[in-house]
Amino acid sequence: MDLNFTPEERAFRERMREFFTTEIPQRIRDEVQRGEHVARDDLVEAQRILNAHGLATPHWPKAWGGQDWSPVQLYIYQDEMQQACVPPPLGFNTNMVGPVIAQFGSEAQKKQFLPATANLDIWWCQGFSEPGAGSDLASLRTTAVRDGDHYVINGQKTWTTLAQYADWIFCLARTDREAKKQMGISFILIDMKTPGVSIRPIQTIDGGVEVNEVWFDEVRVPVENLVGEENKGWDYAKFLLGNERTGIARVGVSKARIRRIKQLAALERVGDRPMIDEPHFREKVAAVEVELKALEITQLRVVADERSHQHGKPNPASSILKLKGSELQQATTELLMDVVGPYILPYDDHEDGRNEPRVGPDFAAEAAPTYFNWRKISIYGGSNEIQRNIVAKAILGF
Ligand SMILES: Cc1cc2nc3c(=O)[nH]c(=O)nc-3n(C[C@H](O)[C@H](O)[C@H](O)COP(=O)(O)OP(=O)(O)OC[C@H]3O[C@@H](n4cnc5c(N)ncnc54)[C@H](O)[C@@H]3O)c2cc1C
Repeated sequence: MDLNFTPEERAFRERMREFFTTEIPQRIRDEVQRGEHVARDDLVEAQRILNAHGLATPHWPKAWGGQDWSPVQLYIYQDEMQQACVPPPLGFNTNMVGPVIAQFGSEAQKKQFLPATANLDIWWCQGFSEPGAGSDLASLRTTAVRDGDHYVINGQKTWTTLAQYADWIFCLARTDREAKKQMGISFILIDMKTPGVSIRPIQTIDGGVEVNEVWFDEVRVPVENLVGEENKGWDYAKFLLGNERTGIARVGVSKARIRRIKQLAALERVGDRPMIDEPHFREKVAAVEVELKALEITQLRVVADERSHQHGKPNPASSILKLKGSELQQATTELLMDVVGPYILPYDDHEDGRNEPRVGPDFAAEAAPTYFNWRKISIYGGSNEIQRNIVAKAILGF
């Protein structure tokens, strides 16, 4: 296993860094750095710039805009994008439904959806989870009943991220109620404007509304919107969930946040010295940095393993990356809370129309909402308890 980068890979890193730090508007990267909710239009603008340069979907098949890069190149691309605080291409489009359509969709679906999905002309949301069907996803109860050349969909999805922006939703729905639970599920694409689709926002602990309930009441969907074969949706869902690998640790995101925390801690004072010189705080930052370095090396080992094997199957080590990566991202939000200190307490949301001057430094306003919002990272994409089960079974052999 060789963890060193070749001269070509180092040159590739330089090219990526140059692109991300010069082509994506500073204004958008600043929003990401401050931990703000990036506005819809800014996400679209950033993804279109990436797509115009072949950088929105490098992992897709070449025929549909992929780059045929090695796992190492993909890793470097993600790391540099994260460190430059570039909002990543919308995961629902580029990591989830896009690869599923490219692999299992009809030619008509590929033509209709893939270019528009890469360019974020279509905004997708993910309709998998339901009340009572999160970790145990195969228990889902939304039904799709065939009626001539349509399916009629009834049921409820929940935690649907950014459904309020979405043009289309990709759903798992039960097409055979008699079959064993994993066997009777299909993968169906639904236009959000179809009569009978409704959205109810869910307010989260940070005060934002980024998740929703999506309800289907007698929603008629043409059978052409079935992806692949009826009742094979579980296989496509597993392919989709296994598609995201090393980037899941988001080491670059944590590195960028620690850089910012150090800058801010140099400005804040504790007694007669800057906070960054306070020994207890330094110890806490160092502990997170050491763990982050260990995670980065683990991630490189996974990438090196993919480089030597090219086995094409999700590596169970990605569960370790998700687990540790989410814990460290959350740890960085705690460090920022330490820097902000008592200024985390005032309710200071200027989106609600207040116009008094901010209490405390500018960066204080985002610290608590981000801290609360990022609790989600250890829940979505398979909770950390579920990742531990996978590690126990697939790696430790229990
Ligand atoms: C912010 C956010 C955004 C999301 N966005 C989307 C989205 O866009 N689309 C979508 O489809 N879903 C989305 N989800 C849903 C997400 O995938 C589920 O929340 C997740 O799979 C957990 O399911 P659950 O919430 O039903 O919890 P449950 O599965 O009910 O779990 C409750 C608790 O029990 C633990 N647990 C459950 N089973 C086991 C087990 N076998 N062993 C040990 N512990 C267990 C869990 O770890 C958790 O702590 C989102 C979730 C969040 C928080």
